[in-house]
Amino acid sequence: MVEENSIPDVKVKSAAKKPKTKKSEAAPVVKAPAAAKPKVGRDIGLDVPVPAQTCDDEDCPFHGTLPVRGRMIEGVVVSAKMTNTVVVEKEYLRKVAKYERFEKRTSRYAAHCSPCIGAKVGDKVKIGECRPLSKTVSFVVISKGEAKAEMGMNDKPRIAAEGA
Ligand SMILES: [Zn+2]
Repeated sequence: MVEENSIPDVKVKSAAKKPKTKKSEAAPVVKAPAAAKPKVGRDIGLDVPVPAQTCDDEDCPFHGTLPVRGRMIEGVVVSAKMTNTVVVEKEYLRKVAKYERFEKRTSRYAAHCSPCIGAKVGDKVKIGECRPLSKTVSFVVISKGEAKAEMGMNDKPRIAAEGA
């Protein structure tokens, strides 16, 4: 009995909703999202912000077609003299077993830097691995000026014990 009662109720409700008034033939609704487009870049699948500026660089990870995959490295720009390419230096510690100390070492990476990011000397940048763009360039700058989150630097405090 309960079912019989409930079913008609549903039918009545749906029947009441169905006869909707015809939508007004207003087409301009489509135009709203198109207006907000200019700043958008491609989603490269990494946790980095899309640059505020745009560019027409084919090898830009955001506005071109360059895939970024593989290693991700944080470092500091030490040279920006080349066109759309910067040199990024990364500092790391290497243990010297004989003296039980760590020595500082640096490694350098040439990285493509598209004009929308425009990294300058002294900028902390993140670079991501990409296909080889030239003999020495197989990284691309994907973000600039973020607070440096030290990776693999958990050995740092031991240096302080050197003088003791
Ligand atoms: Zn770009």
